[in-house]
Amino acid sequence: TQGSLEPNLKRGRLLVLTGPSGVGKGTVVRQLRQRHPELYFSVSVTTRSPRPSEQEGVNYFFRSREEFFRLIEAGELLEWAQYAGNFYGTPRDAVLDKLSQGQDVLLEIELAGARQVSQHCPEAIRIFLSPPSLQELERRIRERGQDSEASIERRLQQAQQELDAQDEFDYVIVNDDLEQALLQLETLLYPKWPEPEVP
Ligand code: 5GP
Repeated sequence: TQGSLEPNLKRGRLLVLTGPSGVGKGTVVRQLRQRHPELYFSVSVTTRSPRPSEQEGVNYFFRSREEFFRLIEAGELLEWAQYAGNFYGTPRDAVLDKLSQGQDVLLEIELAGARQVSQHCPEAIRIFLSPPSLQELERRIRERGQDSEASIERRLQQAQQELDAQDEFDYVIVNDDLEQALLQLETLLYPKWPEPEVP
């Protein structure tokens, strides 16, 4: 309703998680969602083909390039980017609806998209998940065994550029040990009041 202050008072937080392919964003996000089911995870649209383990509407909305460009034209994407030969974008309305309903929203997106979000939503909390080293990143991508050699090469090239940009982020978390990385993420997203001192 127009003129009401309420939507502003209980706006959710927009959380943006970025980091190179293979750093473990997917695993971190899965665990975080299990622990915080109240967090709304934005399901992206992509022109990439589904991996064997992926499900329509759960991991992504898998769409043709024609449909993807139609969504851009119609202004239905909050941000979008090309990555390793495919297009990815965040559906705008679902995100804005949840935020105005007071729910925190998590976007798991690559660098160019994170930069677009920063421009439109300067209040977004931007977190970069970083690998212990580029060598370790390569090992993880290969171990995952889900991408072709050409795709792995493209992802590694892109990774170097993404790592160079980590200083732009509000927080950088090194994903060396999964539990530790999760704990750091949780601590920054859900800070606890300090325990009262016992006299
Ligand atoms: P993958 O093909 O491995 O699922 O994703 C490739 C990259 O695209 C990852 O870095 C992932 O975070 C990013 N990505 C996924 N969805 C989106 C999106 O909606 N927008 C942008 N800009 N990047 C996305």
